[in-house]
Amino acid sequence: MQVMPHDISTRILHADRLAAPEHGATHKPLHIATGYGYETAEELTAVFQGEKAGHVYGRQGNPTTQALEAKISMMEDAVGTVCFATGMAAITGTMFALLRAGDHVVASQFLFGNTASYFKTLQLLGCEVTLVDATDAANIAAALRPTTRMVFVETIANPRTQVADLAAIGRQCKDLGIVYVVDSTLTSPATFKPKDVHASLIVHSLSKAICGHGNALGGSISDTGLYDWTKYPNILPAYKKDAAAKWGLLQVRKKGLRDLGGTLSSEHGHRIAAGAETMTLRVERACSNALALARWLEAEPKVARVHYPGLASHPQHERAGKLFKGFGSLLAFEPKADPFDVLNRLKLVIKSSHLGDNRTLALPVARTIFWEMGEEQRQSMDIAESLIRVSVGIEAEADLLDDFKQAFAQL
Ligand SMILES: *Cc1c(COP(=O)(O)O)cnc(C)c1O
Repeated sequence: MQVMPHDISTRILHADRLAAPEHGATHKPLHIATGYGYETAEELTAVFQGEKAGHVYGRQGNPTTQALEAKISMMEDAVGTVCFATGMAAITGTMFALLRAGDHVVASQFLFGNTASYFKTLQLLGCEVTLVDATDAANIAAALRPTTRMVFVETIANPRTQVADLAAIGRQCKDLGIVYVVDSTLTSPATFKPKDVHASLIVHSLSKAICGHGNALGGSISDTGLYDWTKYPNILPAYKKDAAAKWGLLQVRKKGLRDLGGTLSSEHGHRIAAGAETMTLRVERACSNALALARWLEAEPKVARVHYPGLASHPQHERAGKLFKGFGSLLAFEPKADPFDVLNRLKLVIKSSHLGDNRTLALPVARTIFWEMGEEQRQSMDIAESLIRVSVGIEAEADLLDDFKQAFAQL
């Protein structure tokens, strides 16, 4: 691990200033220009050809989003980061840039719904995808083929909170030279560093805990520098310049960001960067609120089951405790009553599909985010028809618990 002078919280706060921004501003200013001009044709050409640092056209980024990329690289101890307009743009852009027809991907079967949906599209485009239970690395190992280019997992799955066998999968990928992609959205850099488990690429939906305020969408992909891109067969000759550590992300920036065009706007980049300044404080509070709520729900007789990695009853409780600095802000529970009766009695908690927000949000899983797949598939994924997902916010713990207490008292 690279030696850093301060704790991550301190480094985030001072990152802009230490990069000497315009006029000594303490924030990186908002750059809204679409184009960038140069004194000479030679200079423009040098920037265009990547010989000289600089910007050419806003679709590939701008100084404001570049400052955010540097901040995320710092949080993840990564060699580089590319930001996108959404988390989905980061995921789809990366796969589009790095995979070819005939390539095989092994992924967790417990995936964010839209990521799972995109894997189906990848199959229509000629890639092969095998979904396995990633809570046991042996399932990943059994699914590998000579054509496997990538293993894709999430740290904590939404909504049932399964924790992937992150360290053992990382060792396998390292030994076999397979790109290991870890979507760390549910853990955030405040509680987990995927580089510690040999992740090659790290995905974040910046719309969630990193921004936190529910007022901007964004996504990112970071390269930890641990994967040897000279071994990857799909890097185009044009991107094999400079150090090999940069090849993968260069191809992602050109083929995934520039060509597909899912660019993060500077205004949203700025909001995300401002939100990130309080990430560690917010995540710590949300995790402690979630643990308190999970314990309260587990003791409530009108609740059948609670899923939260911080509970001793969770199957991966020990693993989560070893890997993460907190157990996350997402929990799910199965009330014995109709979930609508529970949700409609909550007054403080918002009925909403977002997560990682400062406010506590809840939804009935089987009738919303897992509606489209049907009951049979929900059963196969152990998603109870009554399941309620809660994304816990940063309200005062007593206020949050009081809301659940008054709701259950009415049932
Ligand atoms: C929300 C989310 C995404 C997608 O991010 P968007 O910014 O909403 O596009 C991807 N992965 C996980 C785990 C998420 O929670």
